[in-house]
Amino acid sequence: MKIPAGWEEYADFRSKTVHERAKLLAASSKQDRLDMTAAHVLALLERYPLLFREAWVAPTNQASRFAQDGFDIGGGWFDIVDRLSVRLSADPNLHVWQLKEKMGRLTVYFCDSAASSDPRLDEATDAALDEAAEESMRTCEVCGQPGIRDKRRHWISVRCEPCRQIDYAKRKP
Ligand SMILES: [Zn+2]
Repeated sequence: MKIPAGWEEYADFRSKTVHERAKLLAASSKQDRLDMTAAHVLALLERYPLLFREAWVAPTNQASRFAQDGFDIGGGWFDIVDRLSVRLSADPNLHVWQLKEKMGRLTVYFCDSAASSDPRLDEATDAALDEAAEESMRTCEVCGQPGIRDKRRHWISVRCEPCRQIDYAKRKP
């Protein structure tokens, strides 16, 4: 969850929990194009409170990347994360430590906790993560339309053609 333009003066924004930040953003009109909307963030936090429990922890009290950054992805992947979360919630031991885009794919890490005693649960988790990552690689991270992996020198992102053009236009001086 990036600090939106115009919010730099809110020096304590970063010290708030992900849940508090989403509440603040939901009450404002500020929104970054490459960030998930506050309404989507709140929907996921309320649907899967155990999976995303780090969202209620102040970043200063927790090393978790999720407590720091929340959902560090664009809104186009909301449906993928929503469906993935249903499947991950089958294992109550799973708590998200970090969720982000990495090399053009959805990547999720978990907090260290008691490992599941049921190997079938671990298998189901791995399958759910693989399928979500695979789907993310062909879904525009900005708008959710079918996209392709756009590879530049040090950067891979998944964009549909219109969103790719907007990215290029923005990069011009
Ligand atoms: Zn798009």
